[in-house]
Amino acid sequence: MSNQGKPLFHFICWNCQEIGLKHSTFCGFCKKLQPVQEINAFTRLGLEPSLEISNETLETAYIQATNVHHPDRFIHSNQERTYAQDQMSALNKAYQTLKYGRTRVIALYEGIFGPYSSETVICTDFFLEAIFDLQEKAMHLTLPSEKKDFYDQIHTRIRLVEGELKEAFQEYDLQLAARAIKQYQYLTKLITTENDEYPFHAVTNL
Ligand SMILES: [Zn+2]
Repeated sequence: MSNQGKPLFHFICWNCQEIGLKHSTFCGFCKKLQPVQEINAFTRLGLEPSLEISNETLETAYIQATNVHHPDRFIHSNQERTYAQDQMSALNKAYQTLKYGRTRVIALYEGIFGPYSSETVICTDFFLEAIFDLQEKAMHLTLPSEKKDFYDQIHTRIRLVEGELKEAFQEYDLQLAARAIKQYQYLTKLITTENDEYPFHAVTNL
Protein backbone atom coordinates (compact mmCIF):
# COMPACT_ATOMS: atom_id res chain seq x y z
CA MET A 1 0.00 0.00 0.00
CA SER A 2 2.72 2.46 1.03
CA ASN A 3 4.83 1.98 -2.09
CA GLN A 4 2.00 2.38 -4.55
CA GLY A 5 3.20 4.20 -7.64
CA LYS A 6 6.49 5.18 -6.04
CA PRO A 7 9.91 4.37 -7.44
CA LEU A 8 12.19 2.41 -5.12
CA PHE A 9 15.29 4.54 -4.59
CA HIS A 10 18.73 3.16 -3.89
CA PHE A 11 21.87 4.33 -2.17
CA ILE A 12 25.54 3.83 -2.94
CA CYS A 13 27.47 2.37 -0.01
CA TRP A 14 30.07 4.84 1.34
CA ASN A 15 32.47 1.95 1.99
CA CYS A 16 32.28 -0.54 -0.90
CA GLN A 17 30.31 1.54 -3.47
CA GLU A 18 27.78 -1.24 -4.01
CA ILE A 19 24.12 -0.33 -4.48
CA GLY A 20 21.72 -0.82 -1.57
CA LEU A 21 17.95 -0.49 -1.15
CA LYS A 22 16.71 2.86 0.15
CA HIS A 23 14.95 1.48 3.19
CA SER A 24 17.92 -0.49 4.52
CA THR A 25 20.37 1.14 6.90
CA PHE A 26 23.15 -1.38 6.32
CA CYS A 27 24.98 -2.26 3.11
CA GLY A 28 23.90 -5.68 1.85
CA PHE A 29 27.47 -6.46 0.75
CA CYS A 30 29.99 -5.13 3.28
CA LYS A 31 27.35 -4.81 6.10
CA LYS A 32 28.55 -1.32 7.04
CA LEU A 33 26.10 1.12 8.62
CA GLN A 34 24.94 3.82 6.20
CA PRO A 35 24.12 7.54 6.62
CA VAL A 36 20.51 8.52 7.45
CA GLN A 37 18.20 8.70 4.45
CA GLU A 38 14.92 10.55 4.05
CA ILE A 39 12.31 7.88 4.68
CA ASN A 40 8.84 7.77 6.17
CA ALA A 41 8.58 7.35 9.96
CA PHE A 42 6.74 4.03 9.56
CA THR A 43 9.43 2.63 7.27
CA ARG A 44 12.17 3.85 9.61
CA LEU A 45 10.72 1.85 12.49
CA GLY A 46 9.92 -1.17 10.31
CA LEU A 47 6.17 -0.78 10.79
CA GLU A 48 3.33 -1.19 8.33
CA PRO A 49 1.72 2.22 7.74
CA SER A 50 -1.48 2.23 9.79
CA LEU A 51 -3.60 4.44 12.03
CA GLU A 52 -3.92 1.61 14.48
CA ILE A 53 -0.59 1.07 16.17
CA SER A 54 -0.67 0.19 19.83
CA ASN A 55 1.79 1.88 22.17
CA GLU A 56 3.26 -1.55 22.83
CA THR A 57 3.93 -2.23 19.12
CA LEU A 58 5.48 1.19 18.72
CA GLU A 59 7.70 0.80 21.81
CA THR A 60 8.86 -2.66 20.69
CA ALA A 61 9.73 -1.46 17.19
CA TYR A 62 11.59 1.53 18.62
CA ILE A 63 13.58 -0.54 21.12
CA GLN A 64 14.54 -3.11 18.47
CA ALA A 65 15.68 -0.40 16.07
CA THR A 66 17.68 1.48 18.69
CA ASN A 67 19.41 -1.75 19.75
CA VAL A 68 20.49 -2.42 16.18
CA HIS A 69 21.74 1.14 15.63
CA HIS A 70 23.22 1.92 19.04
CA PRO A 71 26.57 3.79 18.74
CA ASP A 72 28.13 1.39 21.30
CA ARG A 73 27.93 -1.32 18.65
CA PHE A 74 30.30 0.62 16.41
CA ILE A 75 33.21 1.41 18.72
CA HIS A 76 35.73 0.17 16.14
CA SER A 77 34.66 2.52 13.37
CA ASN A 78 34.50 6.29 13.77
CA GLN A 79 32.57 6.65 10.54
CA GLU A 80 29.91 4.14 11.52
CA ARG A 81 29.65 5.51 15.05
CA THR A 82 28.88 8.96 13.62
CA TYR A 83 26.22 7.45 11.35
CA ALA A 84 24.85 5.50 14.33
CA GLN A 85 24.36 8.74 16.28
CA ASP A 86 22.48 10.23 13.31
CA GLN A 87 20.41 7.06 12.97
CA MET A 88 19.50 7.28 16.67
CA SER A 89 18.28 10.88 16.28
CA ALA A 90 16.27 9.87 13.22
CA LEU A 91 14.73 6.97 15.17
CA ASN A 92 13.81 9.28 18.05
CA LYS A 93 12.17 11.66 15.63
CA ALA A 94 10.22 8.83 13.94
CA TYR A 95 9.12 7.54 17.34
CA GLN A 96 7.85 10.98 18.39
CA THR A 97 6.07 11.36 15.06
CA LEU A 98 4.19 8.07 15.41
CA LYS A 99 3.52 8.41 19.12
CA TYR A 100 1.00 11.21 18.72
CA GLY A 101 -2.13 11.00 16.61
CA ARG A 102 -1.71 14.45 15.16
CA THR A 103 1.68 13.76 13.63
CA ARG A 104 0.95 10.10 12.91
CA VAL A 105 -1.89 10.98 10.54
CA ILE A 106 0.48 13.22 8.56
CA ALA A 107 3.13 10.47 8.33
CA LEU A 108 0.47 8.06 7.15
CA TYR A 109 -0.86 10.50 4.59
CA GLU A 110 2.63 11.25 3.28
CA GLY A 111 3.50 7.55 3.11
CA ILE A 112 0.51 7.01 0.86
CA PHE A 113 -0.05 10.22 -1.09
CA GLY A 114 3.18 12.26 -0.82
CA PRO A 115 3.87 15.63 0.86
CA TYR A 116 1.00 17.10 2.87
CA SER A 117 0.33 20.81 2.99
CA SER A 118 -2.46 22.11 5.20
CA GLU A 119 -2.73 25.27 3.07
CA THR A 120 -4.03 23.33 0.10
CA VAL A 121 -6.94 21.93 2.10
CA ILE A 122 -10.12 23.95 1.91
CA CYS A 123 -12.43 23.54 4.87
CA THR A 124 -16.09 24.34 4.45
CA ASP A 125 -17.38 27.51 6.15
CA PHE A 126 -19.79 25.29 8.01
CA PHE A 127 -16.95 23.32 9.58
CA LEU A 128 -14.91 26.40 10.48
CA GLU A 129 -17.95 27.98 12.08
CA ALA A 130 -18.51 24.88 14.19
CA ILE A 131 -14.87 24.96 15.31
CA PHE A 132 -15.03 28.63 16.28
CA ASP A 133 -18.18 27.90 18.27
CA LEU A 134 -16.43 25.07 20.08
CA GLN A 135 -13.39 27.23 20.77
CA GLU A 136 -15.60 29.92 22.22
CA LYS A 137 -17.37 27.37 24.39
CA ALA A 138 -14.08 25.89 25.60
CA MET A 139 -13.03 29.27 26.99
CA HIS A 140 -16.13 29.59 29.16
CA LEU A 141 -16.32 26.15 30.69
CA THR A 142 -16.47 26.39 34.47
CA LEU A 143 -18.40 23.50 36.01
CA PRO A 144 -16.71 20.07 35.96
CA SER A 145 -19.90 18.56 34.48
CA GLU A 146 -19.86 21.14 31.67
CA LYS A 147 -16.26 20.32 30.95
CA LYS A 148 -16.97 16.61 30.86
CA ASP A 149 -19.90 17.04 28.46
CA PHE A 150 -17.84 19.27 26.25
CA TYR A 151 -14.90 16.90 26.00
CA ASP A 152 -17.21 13.92 25.45
CA GLN A 153 -18.66 15.81 22.52
CA ILE A 154 -15.21 16.47 21.05
CA HIS A 155 -14.15 12.84 21.49
CA THR A 156 -17.25 11.72 19.63
CA ARG A 157 -16.43 14.08 16.77
CA ILE A 158 -12.83 12.86 16.71
CA ARG A 159 -13.99 9.27 16.42
CA LEU A 160 -16.14 10.25 13.44
CA VAL A 161 -13.19 11.94 11.75
CA GLU A 162 -10.99 8.90 12.46
CA GLY A 163 -13.60 6.78 10.70
CA GLU A 164 -13.48 9.15 7.72
CA LEU A 165 -9.69 8.98 7.68
CA LYS A 166 -9.71 5.22 7.73
CA GLU A 167 -12.15 5.16 4.85
CA ALA A 168 -10.11 7.72 2.91
CA PHE A 169 -6.94 5.64 3.20
CA GLN A 170 -8.78 2.47 2.22
CA GLU A 171 -10.44 4.14 -0.77
CA TYR A 172 -7.20 5.96 -1.66
CA ASP A 173 -9.14 9.24 -1.56
CA LEU A 174 -6.60 12.05 -1.26
CA GLN A 175 -9.14 14.88 -0.90
CA LEU A 176 -11.13 13.17 1.80
CA ALA A 177 -7.94 12.23 3.68
CA ALA A 178 -6.55 15.77 3.58
CA ARG A 179 -9.84 17.25 4.74
CA ALA A 180 -10.21 14.72 7.54
CA ILE A 181 -6.66 15.42 8.72
CA LYS A 182 -7.37 19.13 8.94
CA GLN A 183 -10.53 18.49 10.94
CA TYR A 184 -8.65 16.04 13.13
CA GLN A 185 -6.00 18.65 13.86
CA TYR A 186 -8.52 21.34 14.78
CA LEU A 187 -10.38 18.97 17.06
CA THR A 188 -7.31 17.56 18.80
CA LYS A 189 -6.07 21.09 19.36
CA LEU A 190 -9.26 21.80 21.30
CA ILE A 191 -8.58 18.99 23.74
CA THR A 192 -4.86 19.55 24.25
CA THR A 193 -5.76 21.40 27.43
CA GLU A 194 -7.51 18.29 28.69
CA ASN A 195 -4.62 15.89 28.04
CA ASP A 196 -1.42 16.71 26.24
CA GLU A 197 -1.95 14.71 23.10
CA TYR A 198 -4.91 12.65 22.08
CA PRO A 199 -3.91 8.99 21.76
CA PHE A 200 -5.19 6.95 18.85
CA HIS A 201 -7.05 4.33 20.85
CA ALA A 202 -10.54 5.17 19.70
CA VAL A 203 -9.96 4.11 16.12
CA THR A 204 -9.32 0.50 17.11
CA ASN A 205 -12.87 0.29 18.48
CA LEU A 206 -14.53 1.31 15.24
ZN1 LIG B 1 29.10 -1.70 1.33
